[in-house]
Formats: sequence, C-alpha cells, structure tokens
Amino acid sequence: MSLIRLEKVGKVYRTGKITLAALREADLVIERGEFVAIMGPSGSGKSTLLNLLGLLDRPTSGKYILNDLEVSKLDDRQAAAVRNRWIGFVFQTFNLLPRMTAEANVALPLVYSESKDADRPAALLEQVGLKERVQHLPSELSGGEQQRVAIARALVNRPRLLLADEPTGNLDSKSGGEIISLIRKLNREGITVIMVTHEEEIARATDRIIQIRDGRIVSDQKTGTAAETAELPEEPSLKRRVLVNTARIGEYFTQAGRALFANKARSFLSVLGVLIGVASVIAMLALGRGAQDDVSQRISRLGSNLLFVRASRARVGGIAVEGARVRFYPEDAEAIRETIPGVRGIAPYVSGRSQVVWGGRNWNTRVEGTSVDYAEIRDSHPDFGRFFTERENAGREKVAVLGRTVVRELFGDENPLGHFIKIRGIDFQVIGLLPEKGATGWRDEDDKIIIPLSTAMYRLLGTNHIDSMDVQVAEMGLMDEVSERIQRLLAHRHRLPEGRIESIDIRNLADLQETIAATARTFAYLLGSIALVSLLVGGIGIMNIMLVSVTERTREIGLRKAIGANRGDLLCQFILEAVAICGIGGLLGIFFGAGVSVALARLAEWTTRVTPYSVALAFFFSVAVGLIFGIWPARKASKLDPIEALRRE
Ligand code: ADP
Repeated sequence: MSLIRLEKVGKVYRTGKITLAALREADLVIERGEFVAIMGPSGSGKSTLLNLLGLLDRPTSGKYILNDLEVSKLDDRQAAAVRNRWIGFVFQTFNLLPRMTAEANVALPLVYSESKDADRPAALLEQVGLKERVQHLPSELSGGEQQRVAIARALVNRPRLLLADEPTGNLDSKSGGEIISLIRKLNREGITVIMVTHEEEIARATDRIIQIRDGRIVSDQKTGTAAETAELPEEPSLKRRVLVNTARIGEYFTQAGRALFANKARSFLSVLGVLIGVASVIAMLALGRGAQDDVSQRISRLGSNLLFVRASRARVGGIAVEGARVRFYPEDAEAIRETIPGVRGIAPYVSGRSQVVWGGRNWNTRVEGTSVDYAEIRDSHPDFGRFFTERENAGREKVAVLGRTVVRELFGDENPLGHFIKIRGIDFQVIGLLPEKGATGWRDEDDKIIIPLSTAMYRLLGTNHIDSMDVQVAEMGLMDEVSERIQRLLAHRHRLPEGRIESIDIRNLADLQETIAATARTFAYLLGSIALVSLLVGGIGIMNIMLVSVTERTREIGLRKAIGANRGDLLCQFILEAVAICGIGGLLGIFFGAGVSVALARLAEWTTRVTPYSVALAFFFSVAVGLIFGIWPARKASKLDPIEALRRE
C-alpha cells in the first residue's frame, strides 16, 4: 500500500475578487521509503503542494489519502494529531523558537503527543552532530546547525514522512551539502522524504523528481530506488474532541511559564497592573470595613440604654409639613424626669457654632448647652478638672468644659484649666477637659465646648427652647415602655392631635446603629467599587498585552500548530499565561493590600480591617479578570491557520 495518494487534488486561493488556482487536479502516488524532489519555477505551486501534503493547508477539491486514512476530511484536532505523529517538517527559515535551547526546541513536539521520551531530544541532537550544542540558544548556532536542530525536532516523534521546503535555501553550499546528506541518510534508514527545491544538484540526490508548472504536475521521473522501510506500528490517536487534554496540563504550565519568563519586563508590568488593582480592592474594603467597626464600637460605647428624643416635622402623606415642628422646652425635660418611672438621667441640648478666642487665638467650634447628666449619659467625665454642677446650671454660670481639639487649637501645650476664654465676646472660665472621643464618620467629636444648658439658652444663644434630649433608661427591659410614655407625655403637653404623635421622634441605639451602619456600608461599597474599576483597568491592560503577545508570537503559533498543537492546546496555553499573571498579581496584591491597610491604620490612624471575605473577593476577581481577558486573545491565537501564521513576519 502506498504512503500517499492524491486524487485530483486542487487548491484555489481567493483574494478579493481574484481567484488563483495554485494547484490543479494533481494525481500523485508516493510509496514508502521514497525520496522525492518537487521542482519548478517560483510561483508554480511547489509550496502549496507540500503544505497540502503536510496538512498545514486544506485542498479545495480532491481526495488525499495518507497511510490508508482519508486525511482531507479530518477536523482540526485530528489533523493536528496526524501532523504530530506521522509528519516531520523542515522549513527554509528553520523556525526555531528563539528563547528556547536546542534541546527544548527539539522536545517541543513531545508537548503535543502522548509519548514522553525525555532522553530522545539529546540523543537526536547527538545523531545530527550537535552533541556539544544541546544547551545553546538558536542565536548561538550557525544556520547549518539551526537546520540540524530543526531536523532533529522533525524526527522526535518518529514520523513516517519528512517534508522539507527548500531546507538548504538559507545556507551556504557546504552546510547545504551536509544537510542534504543528513536527509539522505535518514531516508536510507526508512523515512519517506518529500523535499521542495529549485536546485538541480540537490534534486540529483533524490530518487524521484516531480516537476510542477502553473499548478500542474508536468513530469515525474524515477532516478533511483526507494529505501526499504520497516512498518511503523504506532497510530496517532484520533480521539474525539475533548475540551482540555488533562494529560497535557503540566506541559501547558511549563510552556506558559517559559513564555512569561522569556518576556520578564512585560510579564512584570502586567503583574503590577493586577497587583495594584487587587491591593486597592483589599485596602479599600479594609478601610470601609474598619469605618463600620469604628462606628458601631463608638455607638455601643455610648451605652445601650439610651433614647434619643427629637421633634421631627409633622408628615402628611409622607411629606414634611413646613412650620409644623413641635418645640421642646426645658420644662418638658423636667416633666419627663419627674413623672416617668425608669428614667435615670436626661440630657437636653441646645447648640450653635461660635467663634472662641483665647490669648489672640481664634477657633470656630460647636458650643453645646446641656444638663449635669450629660457627663454620665455620654460617658464624658472630664479627665482633667471637673464637670459643672447643678448649681452652676441654675445660676447660669459662665463655665466651660472643652473638647481636646479646642484645647489643642487655642492653648497648644498650655494647661487651660482656670483660664478665661471668650465665646461670642463673653468670658467663660475653663473648668474641665472632656475625654478624647475621636471622629465619628466625618465629625470630630472632640471639637466642641460643653456649657450649662441655661447659660447657653439665656446668655449665649438667646433661645427659650431646646433642640433634643437624650434619655437614659434604668433598665434595658423598660426601653419600649419608657419610650411610649415619653411620647404620650410630650404629645399631651404640646396638645398634639392623635395623628401627629409620630412627629415626636424617639429612637433607641439599635435604630441609630442601623441607620449609621447602612451609611457605613454604602461608603464601603463605594470604596470597593472604585477599587474594582481599577482592577478592571488592570484586566484590560492584560488583554492588551496578551493581544500584542499573540500578534508578536504569530510565527510561534504557526510552528506549534505545524508540529501538532491543536486549537485546545493553544487556547489552554494562552489562557494559562493570562491566569498565571492574574494569579501571581492577585497573591502579591493581597499581601500588598493588607500591608497598605496596616500602614493606613498605623500612620493615618484609621481603623482598617482585612476580612477573609475581601481577600477571597479580590482573588476571585483577579483570576476571573485573567480568564475573561485572556480568552479573547487566546481564541484569536488558536484560530490562526498554521500556514498563514508561519508566513507572517
Ligand atoms: P512556489 O512554492 O512554487 O513558489 P506557491 O505554492 O507558494 O509557489 O504559490 C503558488 C501560487 O499561489 C503563487 O502564484 C502564489 O502567489 C499563490 N499563493 C500562495 N499562497 C497564497 C495565498 N495564501 N493567498 C493567495 N495566493 C497565494
């Protein structure tokens, strides 16, 4: 049975409106062990014929039978397997991968086959006379030596057929001669060889010369006898399509790793893009989370059995009615304290912003008038000095307790106790310093001055009503009852009709916490989404780099296809490259982001907390970004036609 049978094979190229028949109705039979030269003028169709024989291209008509198998009907995966196991290619331009050693280049077809003969590449290199050059890069080898490496690569899977397209075209006559003797020797050992050449002298080394003109075989002469061939038992596996060839996963990793290492600067920059994205996601989420923790901690420090009483505008059908707000008076507070059981303390408030002056220094701050109970209710017993007394309140005394920010701004390092400060031009004596509270959200809780309620109302702000009240309830269990009684009492005192009782707004800490937590959550999501955008930008960067990489490595893709990589193989390799970049960037980003969070906590004194959830989210996103943005370039790479890809510069 003959090795190759072509029946009326034709190839038509269509470029725009022009159709060109590069090969017309070629009938050809080649026996095992033959050494055939294909000759003809430039443009006559020699390479077209060779590419069809090598399954790098598909005929537009006719039938191609190789080794009893009709290969013109195979799909991508099967054709790749046939190229890998039955055919070895030698190109005029060698097509070695520049960043791999001679040995790695020779081993490349093994990536795409099931045979794992680790010693064979070195042995083959020795056989072609390159024993000393195994670890050299192609750039360190002469043209003749590179072509020998290419021949060794073509032989690594013990092919039945060796196809050579002008293998000596780029070589001087001496190395050319050596290459031809090497091929001749291989042929004598049993491999069928088909070689395109336009040199008479080289053609004379073969046993049969086929002449082509304008896509037609015009002559076919036997000049020698075919070599004896041993029957090669192995059949290529033409298994049906599987999505990922699991046996090759290790190889994909090696190949992806090699590609990333070969382009260190580019890989580093892509990793950096993802790293920054992931780190900012982690840091932003930590910051948001920290703010949430901070707020809830501060609120719970207030003590949990507080009721906050305020007057809200009356609502009619959900719409606030102008000018209908209830006003509370100090007597309301007194009435609550005296008539409702279970009330332990009550702090009414009035407040206003004021300019305060001491010793030529100015500061604008919030002045709050309140009762003696404030210190207890707000856990604000002064660390230095004392709080004002009931008598001072009743006597409208001009005494003030300062928050730490005010102290810093007015007094610097001096001790303010006993000094007189001017608030709206009135002298107040400093009698105490409030304990440090820190910021709640954007408000600095230390930037305020506390003075007695009646002083504030009648001497400073000139008002007869109060803004709100905090009520401390003796026991948690009484909260609802006390709240309801206060509401009813106030409604009664202000003669509110039944429908407007809701305008007395009483909240407890749980309500407040809920409201503030919701705000903090929104804040955290906002920060997180900004960070995700930066991760997305990093992803687009990766896609860009992968696209460049695919374009730049088109020849490599063509070569990999020629030696047996199928679409799935290339898809896996390129996706793995992208995922590796994102995975590495993601891991480093997690550490970096956690570091930034710690640094923010130390240096800026913000509360931050890195949660496992944010780490998982950031890492998942970075890998997903790698997959999503890797797939398009990878698809592009895998779809390239081998011969198109090989031809590109
Ligand atoms: P040879 O190898 O004998 O120099 P080829 O087989 O490369 O010739 O080309 C045969 C003819 O087909 C030429 O006229 C060439 O221009 C044309 N041809 C080859 N490849 C393509 C292609 N991809 N698209 C269009 N025309 C092509």
